Amino acid sequence: MLPSKKFSVLNEGFVCGHCENEVSPTSITTPRNHCPFCLWSKHVDINPGDRANPCCGLLRPVGVLTEPRRTYVIVHECQRCHKQTRSKAILKGNQPDDFNLIVKLSQQPV
Ligand SMILES: [Zn+2]
Ligand SMILES: [Zn+2]
Repeated sequence: MLPSKKFSVLNEGFVCGHCENEVSPTSITTPRNHCPFCLWSKHVDINPGDRANPCCGLLRPVGVLTEPRRTYVIVHECQRCHKQTRSKAILKGNQPDDFNLIVKLSQQPV
């Protein structure tokens, strides 16, 4: 049996593995899981925020889905295992995502 682990979401800062900018934790409840400057991410989550994935490949932003109620979802593709993941764009608080990049990505097919 697996030891029972409390599900926790980490909201922590990191240095982007792509553009090397320093990224702070968010000032809102949504945890930071991608770089606000270049939108790249790292394949460290199985469930959002759990940091339980041993892959650790870089996630390239390949597109943006626009959902009802003006939510933007960034689609990432792992450069190591080629799995696609999705994460909500963060447009509020400190260091919001680069909105011009999001708009650009949303105009190309995923
Ligand atoms: Zn970056
Ligand atoms: Zn991966």
